[in-house]
Amino acid sequence: MRIAATAFEAQQGMTITDAQHVILQVNQAYTQITGYSAEESIGKTPNMLASGRHDSSYYAAMMQSLEQNGAWTGEIWNRRKTGEVYPEWLTISAVKDSAGLTSHYVAIFSDITAKKESELRINHLAFYDPLTQLPNRRLLLDRLQQALASRKRSDAYGAILFIDLDNFKTLNDTLGHHIGDLLLQQVAQRLRNCVREGDTVARLGGDEFVVMLEELGNQLQDAVAQCESVGKKILATLNQPYQLAGHVYKNTPSIGITLINTHQEKVDDLLRRADLAMYQAKAAGRNTMCFFDPEMQSAVTARAALESDLGQAIQAAQFVLHYQAQVVRDGEIVGVEALVRWQHPLRGLVSPAEFIPLAEETGLILPLGRWVLETACQQIADWAGQAETAHLSVAVNVSALQVHQDDFVEQVLELLQRSGAPAQRLKLELTESLLLNDLDTVISKMMRLKAMGVGFSLDDFGTGYSSLSYLKRLPLDQLKIDQGFIRDILVDPNDAAIAKMVIVLGETLGLSVIAEGVECVAQKDFLAQIGCHAYQGYLFSRPLPLAGFMQLLREKSGAGSGA
Ligand code: C2E
Ligand code: MG
Ligand code: MG
Repeated sequence: MRIAATAFEAQQGMTITDAQHVILQVNQAYTQITGYSAEESIGKTPNMLASGRHDSSYYAAMMQSLEQNGAWTGEIWNRRKTGEVYPEWLTISAVKDSAGLTSHYVAIFSDITAKKESELRINHLAFYDPLTQLPNRRLLLDRLQQALASRKRSDAYGAILFIDLDNFKTLNDTLGHHIGDLLLQQVAQRLRNCVREGDTVARLGGDEFVVMLEELGNQLQDAVAQCESVGKKILATLNQPYQLAGHVYKNTPSIGITLINTHQEKVDDLLRRADLAMYQAKAAGRNTMCFFDPEMQSAVTARAALESDLGQAIQAAQFVLHYQAQVVRDGEIVGVEALVRWQHPLRGLVSPAEFIPLAEETGLILPLGRWVLETACQQIADWAGQAETAHLSVAVNVSALQVHQDDFVEQVLELLQRSGAPAQRLKLELTESLLLNDLDTVISKMMRLKAMGVGFSLDDFGTGYSSLSYLKRLPLDQLKIDQGFIRDILVDPNDAAIAKMVIVLGETLGLSVIAEGVECVAQKDFLAQIGCHAYQGYLFSRPLPLAGFMQLLREKSGAGSGA
């Protein structure tokens, strides 16, 4: 009896009823959990605890289980004396008499409010972004999956808007992450206000948000128009100034939009398309929106193929150098620019304009650039041994990434030494992009190479972020007027003015000036008249394979000696 009494006063709530469910006895824990004393409960049925959250069929199933199995276990919502509804975990067992008939029921229960709450919290943590309280990537993927599934049933369009904040990193870097967080929270709030109740706004991470629109109707034009109007609303809203802990701050988004067309699509593909469209919006100058278009997709696919081919092209020796003459005065060849070409086994000759940017993005420019330098040095060495070519300089384009390598100077010096090429014949063509960061290091590298005799030309001059102040600090030898200014130099007074300015600048700083992209005599004459006497362009020669260039050189010198 004592043991039974002790067991009865356990942590869990207990009630004992008769076969008609009339309460005979309750324990301390029962009173603690429900708020009802023994006196208030005895003589009544557990019905007094009903929360109203379960319908009659729920209780009917419970009764059926008790009759058939003699027991029932499950979660149930009950109501405390205070009126508060709470969840409990309940086990009811039937007690049989010697005849096998139910004489009593014993119910044991515990309050699982805390457990439920932590479940909810865990759920929230797993599916929501703690900073903005928006659904996270996981929940978004889940909802996208559902949206695709429901596309099977209805043919209403849906859409995804991929939103990336412009220059968010700069804000973080300048005002700190705390301020960046404030912006993200306010953006989240504004985005929520831009969409309807049922639409999802999610944060993918960083400054990337996704808005998912559903039920856009089954007319393509309508659906597009609706997306566009939401997109515009988002643009306008996110363009409003923010108040960030005392800072008034302006920010803009770039938005990529793609429609959810068919249920056969994959969630990943949808997101990738929206992401691509977002990059398109960035490329279009930011603070704008772009729809995904299929041509973009094929361009992306082709690029991926090119990228994988490029990786093998060096080992497979598919690159060659072509040489384009650099001339002075009336066509006297004083050097060449080495221009790399890719002989693709299937696509034929691929232009560097197509693969150099790709090589820069993937880092392949490093081995490729080294190969170009090595080949050019060998060519210089070769030419140095012959009277008719010994004077030729070779200009080699080098990418910013190459120069920024720690051992760039050593690499160049080693290649010069190994080939035996005179450094005075090597000219490195740099672009202004190189000068955007770590200018002091770049200058000191240039100084070291210059001390060995290597020359420097600033390519595409005038197209970059030219800051004239760095020009005098750089140990340059030459400015190269970009062909963009030469093309219309005869008709566009602005181009002519820029060309003149570069020439005067060159004179002032003691640098030679060469014009590239000279295609006709009139351009050359005009340039000569304003003081530019070095040229490169189709007028004199296209970039040629070595044999072709050698022939050109012989023809010229033949003509020269014959004259
Ligand atoms: P760039 O260094 O400005 O080279 C001049 C480009 O203008 C060359 O194009 C050349 O073929 C073209 N060109 C020359 N004369 C004329 C002309 O009279 N009219 C017209 N319309 N174009 C002319 P290409 O060979 O396609 O090279 C494009 C760019 O690729 C080069 O521009 C350079 O930035 C890059 N590049 C080429 N070879 C290399 C390399 O070995 N390394 C690196 N890093 N970049 C390279
Ligand atoms: Mg060049
Ligand atoms: Mg150029």
